[in-house]
Amino acid sequence: MFTPSEISEIKKLLTPDKKIVIITHHNPDGDAVGSSLGLKHFLKQKGLEADVIVPNDFPKFLKWMPESKKIIIADYKRKVAGEAIYNADVIFILDFNASHRSGNLVGPWIEKARAKKILIDHHQQPEDFDFVYSDVTVPATSQMIYHFIQALEEEDIVNREIAECLYTGIMTDTGGFRFRSTSATTHRIVANLIEKGADPAMITSNTWDTNTVSRLHLLALVLGRIEVVKDGKVAILWLKRDELKEFGFQKGDTEGFVNYGLSIMGTQVSAFFMEDLYEDFIKISFRSKEDVDVNQFSRNHFNGGGHINAAGGKYMKSIEETIEDFKEKIEKEDF
Ligand code: 5GP
Ligand code: MN
Repeated sequence: MFTPSEISEIKKLLTPDKKIVIITHHNPDGDAVGSSLGLKHFLKQKGLEADVIVPNDFPKFLKWMPESKKIIIADYKRKVAGEAIYNADVIFILDFNASHRSGNLVGPWIEKARAKKILIDHHQQPEDFDFVYSDVTVPATSQMIYHFIQALEEEDIVNREIAECLYTGIMTDTGGFRFRSTSATTHRIVANLIEKGADPAMITSNTWDTNTVSRLHLLALVLGRIEVVKDGKVAILWLKRDELKEFGFQKGDTEGFVNYGLSIMGTQVSAFFMEDLYEDFIKISFRSKEDVDVNQFSRNHFNGGGHINAAGGKYMKSIEETIEDFKEKIEKEDF
């Protein structure tokens, strides 16, 4: 958490005359959108306005969240987003650790911005900003927003909108309250959020009961060819661009596919490789169990990073070569 003196400095920054902007990482997920909108609704309760800016579009299954329609998508609204960041007095950097994670467009804008920058994030190795609240043991940035609200002694003003957004972020980043860093504290906060008006059944249904037939067909294809290597410890899944096109791929359609690899008895790592729809690179998702560190593995070999048990990466070779390289590298890992 921020130190008490940082908290009082931040309090002084958060006044109605200030322009406040909240930014997430590229390809925003449930936690990025949930923490940002949660913070926005919290600021609103305090009489402050803030713009949420995301580098690119986010999945449809998050667009039920209160005020998600008002999020500025920098890819589509370059000028509006650029000016808001340029003119900001305060920028919240949520759910990412380094400016480049917000992409080629927004990343440099953040670096150039004259605003006071406040990072709240749970990824490894944060860059330095004016204020940094980084904790890799917390399962979701949305939980950290709740801790931040507690540190400001403002828990009383948490309303239904804030609760719904933070609940969604925690639920999605913990895989439904299952992943390892899900703690008793997480559950206590979630209990508070339910008391403040978050409806678990509604949120789960809006977020997760959103399969399209095409997504299920895509999933069937991926599951039908899961390969297991390294004595059953590593699962490999993959999709090609043509297949994505054939099934009418939409953003978010492959979210969660990588987790199926980890559900196989005995696997420690699951890797999902997907050709980007437009550009010549392979987007990789890694998941792992226990102490197997896919963050470091991805940093070392696949131009990526993330968390110990959930990381991503990018690779510039063909999908076949990428998978071959992966098999070679993972074989040498000691687990
Ligand atoms: P996902 O597999 O869901 O895309 O990403 C898993 C985690 O790894 C997320 O927390 C995400 O922030 C991080 N991540 C994904 N792709 C990259 C990447 O290219 N670079 C870094 N540093 N982190 C990534
Ligand atoms: Mn997160």
